[in-house]
Amino acid sequence: MRITTLFRRLLGVVSLLICSVTFEEEGLVLRVRPRWLKPRCGSCGRRAPGYDRLRERRWRHLGLGRTRIWLAYALRRVNCRDCGVHTEQVPWAPHGSRFTWDFEELVAYLAQITDMTKVTQLMGISWVTVGSIVERVVARNLDPTRLEGLVNIGVDEFSYRKRHRYITTVVDHDRRRVVWAAPGKTADVLKAFFEQLGEKRRAKIECVTMDMAQTYIKAVEESLPQAQIVFDRFHVQRLASDALDEVRRAQLREIRGTAEGRELFKSRFALLKNPWNLDRKEKQKLHELQQTNAPIYRAYLLKETLAQALDYRQPWRAERAVRDWLAWASRSKLKPFVKAARTIREHLNGVLAYFQARLTNGIVEGFNNKLRMIARRAFGFHSAEALISMLYLCSGGIKLDPPLP
Ligand SMILES: [Zn+2]
Repeated sequence: MRITTLFRRLLGVVSLLICSVTFEEEGLVLRVRPRWLKPRCGSCGRRAPGYDRLRERRWRHLGLGRTRIWLAYALRRVNCRDCGVHTEQVPWAPHGSRFTWDFEELVAYLAQITDMTKVTQLMGISWVTVGSIVERVVARNLDPTRLEGLVNIGVDEFSYRKRHRYITTVVDHDRRRVVWAAPGKTADVLKAFFEQLGEKRRAKIECVTMDMAQTYIKAVEESLPQAQIVFDRFHVQRLASDALDEVRRAQLREIRGTAEGRELFKSRFALLKNPWNLDRKEKQKLHELQQTNAPIYRAYLLKETLAQALDYRQPWRAERAVRDWLAWASRSKLKPFVKAARTIREHLNGVLAYFQARLTNGIVEGFNNKLRMIARRAFGFHSAEALISMLYLCSGGIKLDPPLP
């Protein structure tokens, strides 16, 4: 078998001819050319008359063992009837990329399953390069029909750069994937999504989960008058946890410096934990609080009771429990709980809707947490576009088929 034939098989690229093989400092350099003679336009793929020829350039391909492999070729430019002067299409690499199809596919696959630092180490490329490869792979693979047939969606904001920048994300609850994301967190950002959906697809949306952020509520009420807003139950619960924390801090201010104050300070975690997660010492602490500090214990019970109310499976029972809770919290003489009760009452319809829909924003937040890890560790991903591509890659339902032996 000829050596060039051998390498052509090893490369796994069709429609490519190998002219020569040389060992150079960077690795193995294969001088190649497309099997077709007449050049094709890199933009539209149609045959086009030649224009001129550029200097030789190289594309990284998957390595062989410890050796890096480069494909080298002097690209022709074509004068395409439709696109103008463009570099030609080559069978081994995407238009405009310095990496082969297989290389890009493997980088994106690794980016899906492992952390970014490992991808840069394994593939020997920079963060920024991973980012641009991910953007191209996402553009090629994102399901173009992802906005069709949306019924239950979730909306959330994702913050990065120390909460100075935001991305609004929309998920499809039924297919469990991110379907849309854009920079910003204003009502207009979300409205742009509804505009993009158009009237027909908007009308089919039945349910929108979200936290109680006013901007998104407004956008949904205006654009989807028929849809039911469902407030995320964990955000509802957080209102009570925050209220409990406020009560504790107010008490702490009153008894600062005393022994009782120090005990109270240490009790924070016991108070915020779920009762079944408490260890013996924490249970003891809670018991002491019950004896010594009535307001805090009342606040604790309020927090727990709301969680229980939201747990009921039967809607009528859950609704009754929530209404009882509201009455209790309003009369509790604990200002933060009076306020929390007011907030819940103002959003009651969307809070109770949870018992029918049984949808939370958990899925959106799960995706956002994944993204947060990426954003924190990689400065190369600080542009909104790169982050959004990463979000689509990991949570947009993209299935890659990496080149494996
Ligand atoms: Zn063209």
